[in-house]
Amino acid sequence: MNQKYFPLDKEALEEITQQFPTPFYIYDEKAIIENVRRIKAAFSSFPSYKNHFAVKALPNPYILKIFAAEGFGADCSSLPELLLAEAAGIKGEDIMLTSNETPTAEYIAAKKMGAVINLDDITHIDFLEKNVGLPELISFRYNPGPLKEGNAIIGKPEEAKYGFTREHLIKGYALLKEKGVKRFALHTMVASNELSVPYHVETARMLFELAVEIHSKTGVRLEFINLGGGMGIPYKPDQAAIDYEALTAGIKKAYDEVIVPAGLAPIEIRTEWGRVVTGPYGWLVTRAVHKKEIYRNFIAVDACMADLMRPALYDAYHHITVPGKEEMPLSEVYDVVGSLCENNDKFAIQRQLPKIETTAEGGDDFVVIHDAGAHGRAMGFNYNGKLRCGELLLREDGSVVEIRRAETIEDYFATLDINGVKDFN
Ligand SMILES: *Cc1c(COP(=O)(O)O)cnc(C)c1O
Repeated sequence: MNQKYFPLDKEALEEITQQFPTPFYIYDEKAIIENVRRIKAAFSSFPSYKNHFAVKALPNPYILKIFAAEGFGADCSSLPELLLAEAAGIKGEDIMLTSNETPTAEYIAAKKMGAVINLDDITHIDFLEKNVGLPELISFRYNPGPLKEGNAIIGKPEEAKYGFTREHLIKGYALLKEKGVKRFALHTMVASNELSVPYHVETARMLFELAVEIHSKTGVRLEFINLGGGMGIPYKPDQAAIDYEALTAGIKKAYDEVIVPAGLAPIEIRTEWGRVVTGPYGWLVTRAVHKKEIYRNFIAVDACMADLMRPALYDAYHHITVPGKEEMPLSEVYDVVGSLCENNDKFAIQRQLPKIETTAEGGDDFVVIHDAGAHGRAMGFNYNGKLRCGELLLREDGSVVEIRRAETIEDYFATLDINGVKDFN
């Protein structure tokens, strides 16, 4: 038994691959919308709650349009991401720019779009004022340093390059006030893929206490607090998903205990979740091509780490299933690999799986890599001349549309086109 949700059976996959050959990413629109609605329902005790979807997790405007329709915003970290959000119809303060070591052009674009600028350092107040002008609303990113533990992916806050120290934060708000800024917000992002509800509630409480301190020391009242991203997902089948209701009950309790008695309510609550919104509802669909039996047994699929690098980069677990063989015994142990010339090009290492038939042997097994709906294709690259695969959307009505085509040789050569000339002499 090897089960994890996947919306298509082998027959449906065979039909889809007539038109769109493997490998490809496929995202489940219905499941994403249902998840968004569960998140909104859980936060209903904060009436103006909004998630600014972290565009970097799944930077596709067809997906961002789903969020725009559901009232979610976007969190961007670069100029192209700002443009993607805009292209999807996300506007003004529904967009946050949470960047670091930010180039001037990004600040200019963000200000022009009316996006919320989330500053990463106290020196950026002057930088922004001189180069762009101060907007009416400014947010600061807080780095709690030794006051908060990070986790394995993101590291310790005191070693991280992001955000303001507590001291700088107080100074910064006072300075903004002096300069005539009228509206203020606070943000942090201290964890990545964290599944512990108490951890996230503690982060919220820390920010609420900080809001009280900021107010007492500077007179600044925050308009909203952005709790950041980093909500975990159960990559392993024996892990449990975040209980949204327990999470928001914990946040509400901290709010009622800290913000309300300080007379600072209402403060809006925002998040900028990426992974938990789309991660479990996207899959990398591949076909098993070769089988190699040497010191270990290898199954080679037609995608590689250029399509999904999380296993190689973070040693991350991604569950694998073989459609049509969900009920078969996990009788084999394979390393599931791609064709890139890097020994860590492995989607799974020593994984128990059903017996897989490759196309080289006359078989036709698909190998589906789960939880690839966030930080998946977006992290892909072209090393080894590998061309990244495209993306499909399984619509609510069951139809399948292409929302990004696979890369071509022409794409690979495109940046060698110098001023319209592609002549290597
Ligand atoms: C990456 C990132 C996010 C999203 O993180 P998830 O783990 O996908 O929720 C949000 N905010 C910032 C600043 C980020 O860097």
